[in-house]
Amino acid sequence: MTRAVVVGSGPNGLAAAVTLAASGIDVTVLEAAERIGGGTRTSELTLPGLLHDECSAAHPLAVENGFTERFDLAAHGLTWRWAEVEYSHPLDGGRGAAALRSVEETAAGLGADGRAWRSLFGWLTDHFDRIAPAVTQPMTKLPRHPLAMARFGAQAGLPAAVLLQRLRTVEGRALLAGTIAHALRPFNTLFSAAVGVTLGTAAHRYGWPVAEGGSRAITDAMASLLRSHGGRIETGVEVTSLDELDRPDVVLFDTAPEAAARIAGDRIPPRVARALRRYRHGPATFKVEFAVREGIPWTHEPTRRAGTVHVSGDAREVATVERQIWRGEMPERPYVLLCQQYLADPTRSRGDLHPIYAYAHVPTGWTGDATAAIEAQIERYAPGFRERIEARDVRTVAQTVAYNRNFVGGDTITGANDARQMIARPRPALDPYALGADGLFLCSAATPPGAGAHGMCGYNAANSALRRLAA
Ligand SMILES: Cc1cc2nc3c(=O)[nH]c(=O)nc-3n(C[C@H](O)[C@H](O)[C@H](O)COP(=O)(O)OP(=O)(O)OC[C@H]3O[C@@H](n4cnc5c(N)ncnc54)[C@H](O)[C@@H]3O)c2cc1C
Repeated sequence: MTRAVVVGSGPNGLAAAVTLAASGIDVTVLEAAERIGGGTRTSELTLPGLLHDECSAAHPLAVENGFTERFDLAAHGLTWRWAEVEYSHPLDGGRGAAALRSVEETAAGLGADGRAWRSLFGWLTDHFDRIAPAVTQPMTKLPRHPLAMARFGAQAGLPAAVLLQRLRTVEGRALLAGTIAHALRPFNTLFSAAVGVTLGTAAHRYGWPVAEGGSRAITDAMASLLRSHGGRIETGVEVTSLDELDRPDVVLFDTAPEAAARIAGDRIPPRVARALRRYRHGPATFKVEFAVREGIPWTHEPTRRAGTVHVSGDAREVATVERQIWRGEMPERPYVLLCQQYLADPTRSRGDLHPIYAYAHVPTGWTGDATAAIEAQIERYAPGFRERIEARDVRTVAQTVAYNRNFVGGDTITGANDARQMIARPRPALDPYALGADGLFLCSAATPPGAGAHGMCGYNAANSALRRLAA
C-alpha cells in the first residue's frame, strides 16, 4: 500500500490528507502543536464559555470549492452561519457603508455609487461559479471559461488605486478599500485589487460565513473525514528532517516554503531550494480578543449587524496605512479587521458577554504593542466601547510567530501577495506543488490559491501527487 506523510494539520494539510486517504493511500498527519488545525483553532481565550477564533474567522471561499464539492464536511459536523450584514465599514459621524449578500441591496445603500457597485460586482457575482474554479487553481492551468476569467482579470489585475477611481462617494470607496486591504499590499501595485475583487464578489455569491462553534469546526470535520478513510493524526510531533520519517512514498509539507526546503535538505534540487528560501513574506498582524458586555455600541447602525467590520477611516486613510506597514512604519491609526462572529453563531457567547475578534495590520516582525491603537480605532466609531470590555487576550507579533511556524515574521497569510507571487507561488513552475524530487510536495497556503481556510491548496497538491503516482 502506498504510504504518505503530511507534515502539518492546518486546513490544507488535512484537505491533502483526506484527498489522498480517499484514494486508498495510507496517510499519517504529523502536527508539531498539541492541537490540530493550524490557523483554524478556537479557544476560550478570555472568559470561560466564550469561544474565540485564534486565526481564521470568516470563510467566503470555503463554502463551495473543489474540495467541499467532493467531500461532505457537513456530514462531519461543519455548519456555516451568516450574519445579516456580510461586512461593513463605519466612518466618522455615524456614517458608513455595508455589504449585504444581495448586490442590488448593497448598491441601493450606496446612493450615487450604487450603479458603479452594480457594474463592478453584478456580472462577476452572476458568473462567480465559472470564475471561482479558475481562481482556486494555479494560473498555469487553462481556465474552462476564459471569457469570464478575462473579465474578472480585467478588474483583479488592476492596482487598487485605479479600481477605486470607479467609485465616487466616501462610503463606496471605503467599502471597497476595506476589502482590498485584506491583501496587505500597497494600493498602487499591480494585482493589489485582486484579493478585494475576489472577496467582494464572494461576499455577494456565498457570503462571509463563520463556522458554528468556531473555526476549529472546519478542521475537526476534516479530521473526522480523514479518520473515516483510515487516516491517522499524531500531535506534538515536529518534523525537522525527512530522515525522521519511515521512508514514506509521498510527503506533503503544510509548511512555509523555507521550512520545506530545510526539512527536505539535499533531497530537493538546489535551484528549487534556493527559490523556496527566497519566497517573500508579507506584513504581520497584532491580535486582540475581547470579552465585551452587550456587544459594541457602533454609531453606524448596520455595523451592529455585521459579521466583519473594517475599522480604518476612509479609502485614503486605508491606502496610507497599508503603504506605511510595507515601509516598516507603524501607523498611529492602523487598519483594524474586527469580527462579531457571535451575531451569526450565538453559541460562542455567554449571556450578554460576547467574544470580539480584532487584529491590526502591522510591519513584519514589529515588536510594539498595538492594543491601545486597536481600542482607540474601535472607540472612534463606537464611543463607550472601552467601558464594555470585561477581558482581553493579546497576541503580539512574536507570539504569533511562536504560535505557528508557518507565520514567518508574523505573516499570517503565508506569503506576500505581490504581483509575482499572485501569478506564481511559491516559485514559477508548471506544477507549483511539486518540489522537483520524487514524492515531495508543498501543500500550504504558500501555494495556489493562497491564504484562507478553504483547503484548496492541499486538495490541489494531493491531486498533483496522485497524478504522479498514477503515471
Ligand atoms: C490572525 C489571522 C486571521 C486570519 N483570518 C482568516 C479568515 O478570516 N479567513 C480565512 O479563510 N483565513 C484566515 N486566516 C488565514 C488562514 O488561517 C490560513 O491561511 C490557513 O490556516 C492556512 O492553512 P495551512 O494549512 O496552509 O497552514 P496552517 O493553518 O498555518 O497550518 C500549518 C500547520 O503545520 C504545522 N507545522 C508547521 N511546521 C511543522 C513541522 N515542521 N512539523 C509538524 N507540524 C508543522 C503548524 O503547527 C500548523 O498547525 C487568518 C490567519 C490568521 C493568523
